[in-house]
Amino acid sequence: AATTYLVLRVAPLDDDLIVLLADDQTTARRVEETRRDFIANTSHELKTPIGAIGLLAEAVEDAAEDPQAVRRFAARMGIESARLADLVSQIIELSRLQSDNPLTRPEVVEVDEVLAEAVDRSRVDADRNNVSLAIAGTPGCRVLGSARQLAVAVGNLVENAVVYSDSGARVTVAAHVDSRADDDYVEITVSDNGIGIPSAEHARIFERFYRVDYARSRANGGTGLGLSIVSHIAAAHGGEVSVWSQPGRGSTFTLRLPAQLGAGAATSGGPDSA
Ligand code: ADP
Repeated sequence: AATTYLVLRVAPLDDDLIVLLADDQTTARRVEETRRDFIANTSHELKTPIGAIGLLAEAVEDAAEDPQAVRRFAARMGIESARLADLVSQIIELSRLQSDNPLTRPEVVEVDEVLAEAVDRSRVDADRNNVSLAIAGTPGCRVLGSARQLAVAVGNLVENAVVYSDSGARVTVAAHVDSRADDDYVEITVSDNGIGIPSAEHARIFERFYRVDYARSRANGGTGLGLSIVSHIAAAHGGEVSVWSQPGRGSTFTLRLPAQLGAGAATSGGPDSA
């Protein structure tokens, strides 16, 4: 009622304008609610590592006579502070992506370079977890956008594939151009044969701070922001991210982005002219 009153005072004679303004106010309220939720969730998430560091500092003081215990607590403090740093940098990444113009200077991006960088970042984790990591061909795919952001997006998907798999699993990253629709799209897929995700959770995993398995996510340094960042980066590039997954069989995440067809770009099944 308060909204209507305000709007009526602004434009009492024009029905269309009244509806438009009322709509704007609803949107503004939703944006405000989202912003408030984000701040509440963020403070909650930040409190966990900050609280842990505080307790560990007390534990170090109490254990001053026991060098082994001090070393153990100090190592734990290092882990928690790294976690805090990750959380803060992901929050900054996300708020940058939520700004009006996340892609300031789009460039032509070679998808094979993006995939190589994303895979390199997870190589150490993959070796440690005994997970094999392979790139299965990227025939001259190009998109318009930010190479840095795309490497972050694919990197997050690869990291998840490695983390949510058991020893001996296989992660495959691939890209191809899909020319079936009116416009051409590059599809980047990241597949694993890991633990999978129940279908009831598929829609929610892209929400900020949402985790299916909190314990495993936290144990692996997860923040619950990775997929939300991926979906914002996809949207900033005029694309989307989707998931196929079954518990016990694994997951495939697909990043679908408008293709940049220029000299040398090959379409699906076409010659690799890169
Ligand atoms: P996190 O930092 O917890 O990994 P994400 O936003 O990246 O947060 O992912 C959200 C949740 O989706 C994860 O906590 C995990 O439960 C689930 N998830 C994401 N990727 C995979 C995957 N490849 N296999 C199984 N579960 C996954």
